[in-house]
Amino acid sequence: MGTRMRILVLGGDGYLGWPTALYLSDRGHEVGIVDNFARRGYDHELGVESLVPIEPMPVRTRAWRELTGKEISCYVGDLCDADFTTSTLREFRPDAVVHFAEQRAAPYSMIDRKHAVYTQTNNVVGTLNLLYAIADADRDIHLVKLGTMGEYGQPNIDIEEGWIDITHKGRTDRMLYPKRPGSFYHLSKVHDSHNIEFACRAWGIRATDLNQGIVYGQQTEQTARDPRLATRFDYEAVFGTVLNRFVIQAAVGEPLTVYGSGTQTRGLIDIRDTVECIRIACENPADRGEFRVFNQMTQSLSLTAIAKTVADTYPGGVEIVHLDNPRVEVCDHYYNVVHTRLVELGLKPHLLSDTLIGSMYAIVEQYKDRVDPAALRPYVDWRRTSNPVTAG
Ligand code: NAD
Repeated sequence: MGTRMRILVLGGDGYLGWPTALYLSDRGHEVGIVDNFARRGYDHELGVESLVPIEPMPVRTRAWRELTGKEISCYVGDLCDADFTTSTLREFRPDAVVHFAEQRAAPYSMIDRKHAVYTQTNNVVGTLNLLYAIADADRDIHLVKLGTMGEYGQPNIDIEEGWIDITHKGRTDRMLYPKRPGSFYHLSKVHDSHNIEFACRAWGIRATDLNQGIVYGQQTEQTARDPRLATRFDYEAVFGTVLNRFVIQAAVGEPLTVYGSGTQTRGLIDIRDTVECIRIACENPADRGEFRVFNQMTQSLSLTAIAKTVADTYPGGVEIVHLDNPRVEVCDHYYNVVHTRLVELGLKPHLLSDTLIGSMYAIVEQYKDRVDPAALRPYVDWRRTSNPVTAG
């Protein structure tokens, strides 16, 4: 490994933040975590829980110390609290800040006005506070920000990595790629991207926006070392991402619920590739003033293809059902995404395999008595302005 870096992982208690913190620590970096535990609060609000039990943060970090001798410092607070954000950056003095700390479920943002306003306030204000904190504390700090492939929507042209050359009425310019996202959550990410790009121009800070595909899988080499290091595994209709949800539905004998025709295509990535992409981005920082965008996904599949892949691997057969699509989205569409920049920097993708899906069945089998089947059915309808907060 190259230089030892100080890396602050915002949202380090979450599904991806925790395995990323462990991965970076394992690779020799000095890691700190920031979280306000909002995600654990959404579980209480929705009346659901992670399929795999997760330990409180002090137990997690103690287990890591016992197993590896490495410390992970923890800062408990809210990025929307500007003083907390700035003082944490001044105290930890990171070389890079990895920003996962947002409300990340599209259905949650579409429950009603209150949840849409919460999502956009939490995400946009938190990121804005962070930009000011970086500009005031140290403009050399590299911001590695998690965006989503959902920012782009489904345009009828190739999706480039963040920027596009446009020729209009004979004149040409390099512009941010136009976005047409499909929820108030995804829109919050678009607003973030614009704010970050402007901060790079105005203050000369360095940023990498990672437009990530839907993540699947639950274990990394580090989280698998001890049950106390497990990361969350969401299966229900609000926070459960599509492939993880299908695997759990198959393992508990429920039909796989495809929304609409299932011809909608999504970019996907294995959780082991997520943590490696973050390492690559941190160790190869953007230049001062540069707003760099990577499309962090490794393959594209339609929802029907994902459901069939999962169904084909489950012994004994699984039913696939199509539900009325609760989302407002284009189903039959062109989808061709450029995603070469992380590979150029050394990413060696794990593509979706029967072995990986098989290993996820083993995890589900262990905890399947924790599944509440009612929570698997979608109940947040994009066409309504008010939806129930809990299933059933
Ligand atoms: P998660 O909800 O499990 O983790 C987010 C963490 O951030 C939680 O622990 C939460 O408590 C914390 N947080 C939220 N708001 C905060 C605030 N204001 N201050 C401090 N902490 C706060 O989500 P995840 O699945 O790990 O996703 C992490 C990031 O990756 C998100 O930004 C998400 O949009 C992005 N992403 C995730 C996926 C996916 O498939 N999971 C796909 C694309 C992009």
